[in-house]
Amino acid sequence: MPIHALLLVLALQATPKPDSSAVAGVLTARALESRGAYGFLTDLVDRVGSRLSGSEGAEAAVSWAVAQFAALGLEARKEPVLVPVWVRGVEAGEVVAAPGRRKQPLALTALGGSPGTPAGGLEAEVVAVTSLEELQERGTAVKGRIVFFNHPMAVAEDYRRFGELRNRGPAAAAKLGAVGALVRSLATASLRSPHTGQTQFADGDVGIPAAAISVEDAQLLHRLLSAGPVQVRLVLGCRLLPDAMSSNVVADLRGRGRPEEVVLLGAHLDSWDLAVGAQDDGAGVAMVLETARLLAGLKDRPRRTVRFVLFMNEENGSRGAKAYALAHASELVNHVAAMELDSGAARPLGVSLKAGPGASSLVEAWLPPLLPLGAGALLTQEAGGADLTPLASAQVPLVSVVQDNTHYFDVHHSAADTLDKVDPAAFAQASAAVAWLTYALAESPGLLPRLATPAESSPASAR
Ligand SMILES: [Zn+2]
Repeated sequence: MPIHALLLVLALQATPKPDSSAVAGVLTARALESRGAYGFLTDLVDRVGSRLSGSEGAEAAVSWAVAQFAALGLEARKEPVLVPVWVRGVEAGEVVAAPGRRKQPLALTALGGSPGTPAGGLEAEVVAVTSLEELQERGTAVKGRIVFFNHPMAVAEDYRRFGELRNRGPAAAAKLGAVGALVRSLATASLRSPHTGQTQFADGDVGIPAAAISVEDAQLLHRLLSAGPVQVRLVLGCRLLPDAMSSNVVADLRGRGRPEEVVLLGAHLDSWDLAVGAQDDGAGVAMVLETARLLAGLKDRPRRTVRFVLFMNEENGSRGAKAYALAHASELVNHVAAMELDSGAARPLGVSLKAGPGASSLVEAWLPPLLPLGAGALLTQEAGGADLTPLASAQVPLVSVVQDNTHYFDVHHSAADTLDKVDPAAFAQASAAVAWLTYALAESPGLLPRLATPAESSPASAR
């Protein structure tokens, strides 16, 4: 053996690698006993509150996050992000009285990105559709009308199915000459709270005032429309202001062996304005901080760098995600895995992946410590995260801790997204699973295979 190789072996023996199962036990026990994530979450929602991009709350959240990392001994940097500034203003709606029918207020809230109505409001007849296809069939019959997008969302999985009505419906209605849009809230339960969310108007397109109405009021409109024509009056004071500077908050726990290799753990710092965003995405932010706390508290740091990223502006623009990918473009080839936490605070159910062939067998070795947390299954669904989308071009492997989302859309984007909906014990389980999985990604000798680039794909998979 050449002398330098011998020295290397001796050096490696002098710094024994940490015993992973012991580390798993320490991380899990500390997460469950301290319930640290719940502490971070309580502090964020009580002391900062709501934090829509461009608002005072969002900037307070940035300062809060930097201070939290500092208290853990990690120096966080603020990386600039230019964000849209949309403000809500007054909002009201009512079913206009008609012969044999009194007027009725509607519980509604403007959709993010919506323009306001004229100062005195707008009044028009309502036409209901249940899909974008049906809207196209109606064609110019919706001209001068308020289009009401109705749907039967009942379970969390329906969010994907009906989400396009909120995202793209108002813009499509505007193109056909509609003057306003109402969308049944994307919700799995309702106590008459409307659920907001972003609606997209293409740059340069003139938008129309668009609001979400509560599930109960969508049902009312449906009943009234089956009896005859319905006129609605809508007053929205929302408007778009010039873009403003904000920040992503980024902190590194430098790896002890391969610091140039980065495992990214992210969540989004911004929330909607209607509530404090306890689940969306205060829970994710709190689990990022809890993982930072737990990993920084280990005797031996993991081999690779763990980078904690709190993205700005996921809700209404994803500008933070784009800014991160741009600012770190040259490093993305060394991003060996990325995980985003943006699914609430409920118990963990398992792990999912989006990586190259063979990734599962590597990950299976890390699952035993997750079994007692209820998260030991490798699930077939694809890992993801809105803020990780711009990393796709660099084929960064994605990993998710899948959480129970049965009740997530009961409160998502509504005034009811508050701390009381979070079960501290279930949340501690999720944060324990996240901490261990992050450690495993950063410590494992093997790397997750990267996704194939389109050029490398076989002809069969390219089809
Ligand atoms: Zn979110």
